[in-house]
Amino acid sequence: VTAVTGHVARPLSIGCDVGGSKILMACYHEDGTFSGRVRARVPGSAPAIIAMIAGYALAHAPRGTPIGAAVAGLVTAGGSVLSGSYIKWDGMSVAAEISAATGAPAYVLNDADAAAWGEHHRRGPGPRPLLMVTVGTGVGGGLVTAGRIYRGATGISLEVGHILADPCGPRCGCGSSGCVETLSSGTAIASRYHELSRAGSAITAREVVAYARSGDKLAQQVVSDAGHWLGRGLASLTRVLDPGLIVIGGSVARAGGMFLGPAEDALHHHRMPHAAGLPRLSLTTSECGGDAGLYGAAVLAAAAQDSG
Ligand SMILES: [Zn+2]
Repeated sequence: VTAVTGHVARPLSIGCDVGGSKILMACYHEDGTFSGRVRARVPGSAPAIIAMIAGYALAHAPRGTPIGAAVAGLVTAGGSVLSGSYIKWDGMSVAAEISAATGAPAYVLNDADAAAWGEHHRRGPGPRPLLMVTVGTGVGGGLVTAGRIYRGATGISLEVGHILADPCGPRCGCGSSGCVETLSSGTAIASRYHELSRAGSAITAREVVAYARSGDKLAQQVVSDAGHWLGRGLASLTRVLDPGLIVIGGSVARAGGMFLGPAEDALHHHRMPHAAGLPRLSLTTSECGGDAGLYGAAVLAAAAQDSG
């Protein structure tokens, strides 16, 4: 017989982060920790993902424990997912489906919004608004202002990956050209290096960053250019939003200075030239790391439950 500690007994909520290839699920506790962490391949269909989340919730927490899910895709204010880059959601009411399958309240939000909320919550009081930009396979964004996630009119806002950085840039999946995502994402870094190096086999952004670290000049240029275009895009955004803090998360941010340095330089040079007295706006790396989305979703679900 194992003694059940208060810690294991009753989580405040369950957090889920549904990415393009991996799903992360864990129980969130009052002391800010997670237990029962599960990381798995994302099932290929939306109903299978919902079944996986429901199965986890029913197995790991008492019935009725609220569930927060961060999803890579366009999420409406009501918790429907209109589309995702990887999964066909087709406007499914994901929050309602999870709720029906578990009998628990469920909250669904965009993964970058969740990451922004996670960073806001982890950092406590500080310079605001907080702009979160996630640079991984794609590029996403979220904004926390006045203690709330900014959602716009329809829930779809802060699509930082799809603001214009270079009008002459590559075609984007959204139908436009030269979006930040086509120039600064991990996908963009990998394909640009592949194209310029004429390498025979496909390469990942992580490999390009490793090449750059070991002195490969072409890799260094590709990573630096990607950072530059991110900074150009962020400069436009700061003219509109005037954020107090910009947090950069996602796998590409782990490249560090070789990516963030050029981004910060471009941001500084294109921010607001006639407001030279402004303090330099630096880019901060994520405090939650890979858990930002998981954490934000879990905290949101726990708080929503609290406030009834
Ligand atoms: Zn686009």
